[in-house]
Amino acid sequence: MEWTGWNPNSIMTIQENVPLAPLTTLQVGGAARYFAELRREDDVRGAEQFAKTRELPLFVMGGGSNLVIADSGWPGLVLKIAIGGITRPETEDATGNAVLFSVGAGVNWDDFVAQAVAQNCAGVECLSGIPGSAGGTPVQNVGAYGQEVADTIESVRAFDMKEDRIVVLPKPACGFHYRSSIFNGAERGRYIILRVNYRLKRGGAPSLKYADLQRHFAARLAENRTPPSLAEVREAVREIRRSKGMLIVPGDDDCRSAGSFFKNPVLSEERFKKLAERAASNGLEIPSYPAARSQHKDAQRKVSAAWLVEHSGFAKGYAVGAAGISHKHALALINRGDAKASDIVGLKDEIQHGVQEAWGILLEPEPVFVGF
Ligand SMILES: Cc1cc2nc3c(=O)[nH]c(=O)nc-3n(C[C@H](O)[C@H](O)[C@H](O)COP(=O)(O)OP(=O)(O)OC[C@H]3O[C@@H](n4cnc5c(N)ncnc54)[C@H](O)[C@@H]3O)c2cc1C
Repeated sequence: MEWTGWNPNSIMTIQENVPLAPLTTLQVGGAARYFAELRREDDVRGAEQFAKTRELPLFVMGGGSNLVIADSGWPGLVLKIAIGGITRPETEDATGNAVLFSVGAGVNWDDFVAQAVAQNCAGVECLSGIPGSAGGTPVQNVGAYGQEVADTIESVRAFDMKEDRIVVLPKPACGFHYRSSIFNGAERGRYIILRVNYRLKRGGAPSLKYADLQRHFAARLAENRTPPSLAEVREAVREIRRSKGMLIVPGDDDCRSAGSFFKNPVLSEERFKKLAERAASNGLEIPSYPAARSQHKDAQRKVSAAWLVEHSGFAKGYAVGAAGISHKHALALINRGDAKASDIVGLKDEIQHGVQEAWGILLEPEPVFVGF
């Protein structure tokens, strides 16, 4: 069906009963009652109006890499954001080192990272190989290997469905914390992200904060040879991700997932102490890291959710029917072939229950559940 909203220049094709599973990395779930791709900012009002006039719930998706779609699908309109284009609206700041990239929300995230690295711009190299769209990155403040997008996002351009206008949200207004922002928190469902502006550093050194990366380059760093380049760090990150099933590689069943299924729990120092004592009484040491202080008044610690899963009786490769745990990473729940959303949710429930029984911690899922 062709839909012309209030704007006669805006004609959108609205499809009916579109299966959503093939549009997601986990590949489970039913169909969208209505489905449209948003390729131009000008069409955003028309799409919103289509849903409003029919009183349909609207769901906005990007690359589908962080979604669990219900078997019953989505009863309203699914709007897939496909706005492209990477521009450099302003190339220099006073120092000449900061480079601003304006990235269409529908641009494949890793394509943007590749381009930034090729242009010798630092700030997102450790986020290489993360699937999904650029527009999806602010939503859960995507992070990996010592970087998160909040480090480089300058502003987010979005359609505000409450105010019915396009707004530019500067970074402080986005409320970024560990795997959270206003977009998946206080203002969930309010904004359709159209573009994201990232400020990168021309000629900047790659970030080597993360232990896995330091290990990868250990020999070289020890011998005081030339430090790795941005491109080498990008390749190393992709290689490490591939070994963990965290890179989408055709034919690798372990990456038919939504990435990490559970967030690393953040505990007060007191609660962490008790947990560590409990682990120690079993001769175990639980991996943990200090959590960012700005988020909390008191010091807190982030605990490895993967460790908790593995030490609650769920080994890598554990399977219940068509749902399972990746053979390469304890945090990735995978669709082993023809899983339904209910199989994935059943396994999620079993793991949450097991971890709570063993350690008294309720793991919080990371993906977005759609239509449940
Ligand atoms: C193999 C694998 C590895 C992964 N590794 C990581 C990792 O290392 N770190 C990490 O943080 N994540 C990781 N993820 C999760 C996922 O890739 C990211 O969260 C990604 O940013 C999601 O983007 P997306 O475009 O696919 O969003 P989707 O999955 O389509 O949507 C996710 C959420 O964002 C919202 N959304 C998406 N686009 C827009 C938009 N334009 N406007 C408004 N809302 C929008 C949706 O409504 C939904 O709530 C991984 C996933 C997989 C499958």
